[in-house]
Amino acid sequence: MSKNLPKVAYFCMEYGLHQDFKMYAGGLGILAGDYIKGAKQYNYPMVAIGIKWKQGYTDQMIDKEGQPYDTYHNYSYDFLEDTGVKVPVEIRGEHILCKVWKTESFDNIPLYLLDTDIPENHERWITGQLYGWFGEERIAQEIVLGIGGVRALRALNIDVDIYHFNEGHALFAGFELIREKKEQGLYHEEAIEETREEVVFTTHTPILQGNESHPISKLMYMSANLGMTESQLEALGGSPFNMTVGALRLSKISNGVAQLHGETSNKMWAHIDKRSEIIAVTNAIHLPTWVDEKMLKAAESGEDLAIIHQQNKQALVDFVKEKNGASLNPNKLIIGFSRRAAPYKRSNFIFSKPEIIGSYLKNQDIQIVFSGKAHPLDDTGKEIVKNLVEMSKQYPNSVVFLENYGMEIGAALTRGADVWLNNPRRPLEASGTSGMKASMNGVLNLSILDGWWPEACKHGDNGWQFGDGFESHNDHEQDAHDLNALYKVLTEEVVPTFYKNKEKWQKMMRASILDTMEYFNVKRMLEEYYEKMYKL
Ligand SMILES: *Cc1c(COP(=O)(O)O)cnc(C)c1O
Repeated sequence: MSKNLPKVAYFCMEYGLHQDFKMYAGGLGILAGDYIKGAKQYNYPMVAIGIKWKQGYTDQMIDKEGQPYDTYHNYSYDFLEDTGVKVPVEIRGEHILCKVWKTESFDNIPLYLLDTDIPENHERWITGQLYGWFGEERIAQEIVLGIGGVRALRALNIDVDIYHFNEGHALFAGFELIREKKEQGLYHEEAIEETREEVVFTTHTPILQGNESHPISKLMYMSANLGMTESQLEALGGSPFNMTVGALRLSKISNGVAQLHGETSNKMWAHIDKRSEIIAVTNAIHLPTWVDEKMLKAAESGEDLAIIHQQNKQALVDFVKEKNGASLNPNKLIIGFSRRAAPYKRSNFIFSKPEIIGSYLKNQDIQIVFSGKAHPLDDTGKEIVKNLVEMSKQYPNSVVFLENYGMEIGAALTRGADVWLNNPRRPLEASGTSGMKASMNGVLNLSILDGWWPEACKHGDNGWQFGDGFESHNDHEQDAHDLNALYKVLTEEVVPTFYKNKEKWQKMMRASILDTMEYFNVKRMLEEYYEKMYKL
């Protein structure tokens, strides 16, 4: 590793490093966690900035009626190091101190976590719950992450060349960089120019409403503006102030998280002037966290994969039995599906036509294990979960819903299932790293051509696609098209291959592993960020 690589500070609201370290909600955090483990594994000069969440994200359980409900617990972690550093931020005109913790406990680069839950503070709630609230609370959290984060780097004497905002949540770090430069005598426009040279931005969601915005008056009221006027704010993020737009205008380069997502993001933000170029850097995973090394080795050496996979499958069957009581048959096909319960992900899609899928479920020729949380404030998402639980009651031995999705369930499913199903409405899935975990474990992807999958899929050789990339603005039309395609591939290719052509199945497992294990390894992703995004 060359000594003069740029030093990067990576900012993210959440980090999925371990099941029991409740600093993450979902895919964004898992990506960040894998990335900072990879940066350590491959020895990159990076540090990471985040927030120490007291209660993390919801532990979402299912009640007796099959309804999801949210629970929160206070967690404490004795492995966190106290850096002795506390940095001030101003929130709603009030002086708040952020205590800075550090951890490298998960084979990650140094991760600094800011915490407002200390006796000196009047308002200790800010770092209470991850994405627990909207509006003022979210802005307060983002002030801690961004402004507190830059100040923590200064207080810790950590040199930084590049500030990487993973998602727009970190944008206020850019405000602090501007403020510092103005304090040193630069004019506003010059300060923006210079800040832009230091910032790179990764955009994540192709759902417009998922891109957070706030009334400018609220940013002023919360003291997020750091001396900027309303019109200066508007020039950056529009009005209402959109965090993604602000980050696109305050970065030297931006990226989407898969090739298709890069295209989608360019269309989505085409109307934004003075923004940085959006390229694509496809996500990847940290192999030691997710992939069974025995499978990798056996795939490379040509050894039997079926025996090792069968052990992983048995482990999943046992895991499901213990968590849920359901008895899956380890000799029959198991499909895994876990996604946040949001309408565009269409979690219950496969049940759309009981006249087609019903008999397969009744005789256990198809078994499906579901998991996934709904956002705590999303009643539609909760209805989706409730519906999945109802299906599991209707088909008790072939449909399972595992409550409280997290890294442990994610790992068990992406190792132990036979097939990994993904059926979002294209092009709304940004990346979908769970499919990469599955693929490298020899779990065959059966997926819409969305997110990362168009980059890897060789239909019938290393997995299957369905839907041929069809897109329609009419949801009914798109759903009808995709559903026919799903049923056709499932009943004519997946099920017959599984039961009647074990040899081909094993060949596909091997191709699935060998075709993905290098390109979708976080090593490639780090190299690409350094080459295309971080270069000075
Ligand atoms: C891998 C993983 C994700 C991200 O997967 P997607 O394919 O984006 O859904 C989210 N949550 C958990 C717990 C994971 O393990």
